[in-house]
Amino acid sequence: MEQTLSIIKPDGVKKNIIGEVIRRFESNGLSVKAMRMLQMTREEAEGFYAVHKERPFFNSLTDFMCSGPVVVMILEGQEAIALNRKIMGATDFKEAEAGTIRKDFASSIESNVVHGSDAPETAATEIAYFFSSLDIMA
Ligand code: GDP
Repeated sequence: MEQTLSIIKPDGVKKNIIGEVIRRFESNGLSVKAMRMLQMTREEAEGFYAVHKERPFFNSLTDFMCSGPVVVMILEGQEAIALNRKIMGATDFKEAEAGTIRKDFASSIESNVVHGSDAPETAATEIAYFFSSLDIMA
């Protein structure tokens, strides 16, 4: 079993598809082990996306990520990190496979509904960014 961090981004919350996104995770073999709704400060969004600090879209991305509430979750399952990214689809929704969350609901390369950790190390760091061990269900 593996755990990964998932975020339903502000555009997903505004589109009222929290339930639909979670349904896709649950019906594809992932289980929610912790969940919070919160609105990040600018500093928190910058810290979360620190790896992208040098990218030209960093300011726009961090503005977007603190523009409204998000739903942060720990998902667990067999190969949860890769499975979650498959369910999400490619970063650019125009390149995402049919039936993926981003293909069906994203409106731009930035407003792409969901975040998912991309490797075991980042999953561990990202989970610890939002959750303490007491928040995580066995
Ligand atoms: P992810 O792992 O699929 O989320 O993609 P990345 O780690 O490469 O990028 C992080 C997030 O930055 C993406 O999910 C998008 O919201 C945003 N992003 C990526 N590429 C671009 C871009 O070229 N322009 C803008 N404005 N945002 C981008």
